[in-house]
Amino acid sequence: MANHREPEANGNKNLQANLVDHARLREALKNNEVWPAFQPLVDMHNGAIVGFEVLARWTDPELGIIGPNEFIPLAEATGLIGLLTREVISQACSAAESWPGVFMLSINISPIQFRDPGLLEDIRDTIHSTGFPISRVQIEITEGALLEDDEMVRATIQSFKALGIGLALDDFGTGFASLTQLHAFPFDKLKIDMSFVRTMEGDSCSRKIVTSVIGLGQSLGMAVVAEGVETEQQATMLRRLGCDVGQGWLFGKPLKAADTQRLLSVREHR
Ligand code: C2E
Ligand code: CA
Ligand code: CA
Ligand code: CA
Repeated sequence: MANHREPEANGNKNLQANLVDHARLREALKNNEVWPAFQPLVDMHNGAIVGFEVLARWTDPELGIIGPNEFIPLAEATGLIGLLTREVISQACSAAESWPGVFMLSINISPIQFRDPGLLEDIRDTIHSTGFPISRVQIEITEGALLEDDEMVRATIQSFKALGIGLALDDFGTGFASLTQLHAFPFDKLKIDMSFVRTMEGDSCSRKIVTSVIGLGQSLGMAVVAEGVETEQQATMLRRLGCDVGQGWLFGKPLKAADTQRLLSVREHR
């Protein structure tokens, strides 16, 4: 009977659980159990790989591979998200530095990280230490980051841009970003959330949303990426609507660094 629990006891339990989780995740980060997977972003007209989204994974010795939906909220709640992000960027950029071809790396940043005054320097220094060109890094932020519409968030985003880091607005259409914010923040890219891509064939409403987002991106000079493209039919419809870049199982699932390198090398020698 959850609603009869004593608030105090419950609070203590949460605190204890939090300390255990914090220690476990910290240990995992130290032991390199958290690592980056790479999912291709593909030019839907010619099939070229134009970039990769970096997606965090945790291989627990007992539980196996844990997905980010399980541990990113934990990292945010325990204050370890900054450390996790640096770890993921460091591993991803170090690996990708020697891969053939010119491609972007897209890194996810949690909205709460914009409260960290050291965010910009941390990310810049981490990228620099790997030798990967900073101009080929893009950060993905969700509309949640823009909700706290204060000067600090705005200044941080502008500074990323000034460093040459690209900006993508992730999961577009699921939050509450206004047209004013789209205009006020210097986004290079809009990512259409996969919930619209999944339903656009059968549902005229979500098809209209996809069409509008592509049009909006085009008129504001932003590249548009469709997420969660799983079928040839979806790709065909997206191409016809003017979307150039796709990401999804049709083009490739997230891969480990070694497999990503192999994929690029095979393509280079074709
Ligand atoms: P997201 O940024 O929207 O990432 C796209 C998610 O869609 C990924 O799930 C990816 O594996 C999945 N996906 C890609 N193509 C397809 C497809 O065709 N079909 C289906 N069903 N799914 C597809 P994943 O890797 O589980 O990541 C979930 C979320 O966790 C991400 O959503 C992102 O918000 C967050 N995340 C992942 N890595 C990081 C990280 O390093 N830092 C932070 N802050 N968040 C991260
Ligand atoms: Ca993303
Ligand atoms: Ca997304
Ligand atoms: Ca998402």
